[in-house]
Amino acid sequence: MVDIRSVRKSFGALTVLKGIDLQVRSGEVTVVLGPSGSGKSTLLRTINHLEKVDQGVISVDGTLIGYRRSGDRLYELPEREVLKQRTRIGFVFQNFHLFPHLTVEENITEAPVSALKRPRKEAVENARGLLARVGLADKAEAYPRQLSGGQQQRVAIARALALEPKLLLFDEPTSALDPELVGEVLDVIRDLAGQGTTMIVVTHEIGFAREVADNVVFMDDGRIVEQGPPADVLDRPQQERTRAFLSKVL
Ligand code: ADP
Ligand code: MG
Repeated sequence: MVDIRSVRKSFGALTVLKGIDLQVRSGEVTVVLGPSGSGKSTLLRTINHLEKVDQGVISVDGTLIGYRRSGDRLYELPEREVLKQRTRIGFVFQNFHLFPHLTVEENITEAPVSALKRPRKEAVENARGLLARVGLADKAEAYPRQLSGGQQQRVAIARALALEPKLLLFDEPTSALDPELVGEVLDVIRDLAGQGTTMIVVTHEIGFAREVADNVVFMDDGRIVEQGPPADVLDRPQQERTRAFLSKVL
């Protein structure tokens, strides 16, 4: 589903991704761990075209999204294609990013109606179904500010699902939540995993990673230091940097 090869990305003099290779199969959950500043968010953003790569190849579901070989001309998708691709990749942010002036239901129907041209009635029905799925059937008419952080994040997940994404990206989806609200969001993500949703999840929740991940990726300083099944990376890490990181977050 996702094939990332030799991806490099710099911001000015700062090289943030120093040659990333990562493959994600359809239906798999990949959990990305690593210290702050190691490039995790930038990696997710390149997959969703929120950042352009400087070098390397990323393809999502067979569509090439960035390509350059040294000396070669940068291949770029036309903007229209980028927007089309982006609607098929759901992104859930640390700080929810809901539209404050729209109700929960309007937050969920906005993109299907405006970007996918779905009939409003169908989008509303679908939104109701999604709200039930994330345990918020009674909140359709509420505004984001009337919800807890955990509820807002579940709305954000429902909103991402409304576009029927082939891939869901989560960037520290529980980091902004009070501890007692983390579980309800992880439960929703766990359900999605059980239904075979392809996901890449950046998180420091090691218990969640151990339980749900097919592949755990440890990043440090713009590189993937180590990756593999949770039982290997979390319980028998081969690299000293992985061990040092885990001893701090466990
Ligand atoms: P992580 O998510 O692992 O904490 P990020 O991908 O957010 O790491 O950031 C990696 C590095 O890139 C950091 O040093 C950060 O300051 C820098 N960085 C990220 N985005 C930008 C940007 N738009 N412009 C300049 N530097 C950036
Ligand atoms: Mg980040």
